[in-house]
Amino acid sequence: MLYLDGLSSWPMRPEAKDTLLEALAQPGNANSNHVAGWQANSHYEAGRRAVADLIGATPTEIFVTSGATEANALAIIGTARAVAGQTPNRNRIVLSAMEHDAVRRPADALRELGFEVVVCPADAHGAICLESMEALLDERTFLVSTMLASNLTGIIQPIGKISRMARDVGTLIHADGAQAAGKFSVDVFELGVDYLSLSAHKFGGPQGVGALFVAADAPKPYELTAATPVKANLSGTQPAALAAAMGRAAEISVKNVSRETAHSRFLISLINEQLSRGALRAERLFTSSPSIPGAAAFILDIPSTSDLIDALNTKICISNASACHSGSLQPSPVLSALHLSHDEQNRFLRIGVGWWLSEQDIDAAAAAMNDAAAKVHLATGEVHQ
Ligand code: PLP
Repeated sequence: MLYLDGLSSWPMRPEAKDTLLEALAQPGNANSNHVAGWQANSHYEAGRRAVADLIGATPTEIFVTSGATEANALAIIGTARAVAGQTPNRNRIVLSAMEHDAVRRPADALRELGFEVVVCPADAHGAICLESMEALLDERTFLVSTMLASNLTGIIQPIGKISRMARDVGTLIHADGAQAAGKFSVDVFELGVDYLSLSAHKFGGPQGVGALFVAADAPKPYELTAATPVKANLSGTQPAALAAAMGRAAEISVKNVSRETAHSRFLISLINEQLSRGALRAERLFTSSPSIPGAAAFILDIPSTSDLIDALNTKICISNASACHSGSLQPSPVLSALHLSHDEQNRFLRIGVGWWLSEQDIDAAAAAMNDAAAKVHLATGEVHQ
């Protein structure tokens, strides 16, 4: 099996798996005052420290969550609850049109509570339209929440510029960093964000754990204050082993970032070349914007990407990540926001590669994908050179 669906989830790094198994094998509740409790607590705190180091934060600014979904909900709903009533004229939240459901849903919940939710469009290059963003950010907006890198295209968003605009009008800024942290260098100070969500399984840690960075001078989301502020955790018992393994994955990401970035970029250029020249005649999208090193999005020259996925899904893991399956009448809101027609959405493919793949793996995957496309062309009677 060749795994090219790294935007869904990365394989767990072997070092993180070792840390997880070692920590799981030890008894103890991190709150207990005995040697087993101290050990569990030290696993947990080591995880927070390593995550802080990954993004240039301090450990006290790191709140462990069950993943980026929970972190986003805390940042959006928790911040609204924390500041509600303090500035009655600020009841607007601004999102980008490319957001993951994990941001859209909490924003929808706020809309039901009477907040105004405004969506900023994408430009023609897969990035947030900065002119529109500037027009939307004013003293009525309490929070802007946008992704740092896209889960569909891998495009890195201009968060530094957006946070400067936000600060000018006193708006808080949250970035969904699920696809960014651990994949390229991310520094919360340089980005200028108040909140940043992270997901361990996107950078080689276990699934079911993540974190929310809350800047020391930013309002703390309501639930964190109301729950257990000292433990920096929402559940009573800290997930010590999961946090430790997330921290180990973060450490390896920091250590290997230059080498892995070069390797991932090389693999993407290789697959781009092979898919564009072969029967798939893939056209890479948004090439003028910066992207996550191991990510790329394409439009394929076959009627439906779903057919390719179905033909290969026991051998090669790829994804169209779209609600828009073959024959569906429902276009994906995010792909529509990226100005892709319904037909293009049906032919959309995203790929996520990284340290776990070799050049030979990419050759084999591209050959299998082009072969499958050639069969589709034969079946539909289309002849390609
Ligand atoms: N945000 C983005 C941009 C994502 O890609 C994902 C995962 O697909 C999430 C949030 C949710 O992350 P988690 O699985 O940690 O809840």
